[in-house]
Amino acid sequence: MSDQTCMRCGEQVESSRDDYEVFERMHWDCFHYAYEHDLNGEVPESTDCGMPGCPSGAG
Ligand SMILES: [Zn+2]
Ligand SMILES: [Zn+2]
Repeated sequence: MSDQTCMRCGEQVESSRDDYEVFERMHWDCFHYAYEHDLNGEVPESTDCGMPGCPSGAG
């Protein structure tokens, strides 16, 4: 059983322990939103912030 819970959304994180720690105990997506969107203050999660690999980008 994994005890890795995302600090942002509260959902289970199924990445490796190392990745979990590297991304501040968040999903990669949540980490991205926390640092690239929230800190910029103007980018909703539904909007592509322009960063390569943005989860809200084309896909
Ligand atoms: Zn999350
Ligand atoms: Zn983004």
